[in-house]
Amino acid sequence: MRNELLAWFAREGLLLTDVVSSAQDPEHDEIKVAVRAPLLALSRANDDFRECPDPVLFGYPESSLEMMTLDDMNEFVLSWFERAVAAGMARCFVCNQPLDMGEEKPWDAVFVTHDMYCWLLVHFDCKRYLNRDLKGRHPFEVSAHPPEFFDLRLM
Ligand SMILES: [Zn+2]
Repeated sequence: MRNELLAWFAREGLLLTDVVSSAQDPEHDEIKVAVRAPLLALSRANDDFRECPDPVLFGYPESSLEMMTLDDMNEFVLSWFERAVAAGMARCFVCNQPLDMGEEKPWDAVFVTHDMYCWLLVHFDCKRYLNRDLKGRHPFEVSAHPPEFFDLRLM
């Protein structure tokens, strides 16, 4: 992730840090701080977590991060998710059914801020079970893959 995007998340107060001190070598009492930016979940499966896509790498102007609010970021993330849903890659975090862009089973992108920062997708009807399914998730135990590159300009 580019430092500029990390800095944006830091400004918004959305970076999680985890302090890891290494006890193996007492002479070099090194303290490591792991930093984790918010993730995107294409489903609840461990393989389906993605690093947050960088708006600038998707065609936003270089200076846009300075002006972006969290609402803007939500909108950008939603447009990325819509591409993933259209490509058949996304599932409801609760019921694990594939999502589609049809009207029949509407879904929503939710930004979870409890214990971890993560955008995920869930059917409207499944939302009430979301808290149950989020329990026990630890952000530093999830390994995130780089996000797919969708062409967002055609939306
Ligand atoms: Zn569902």
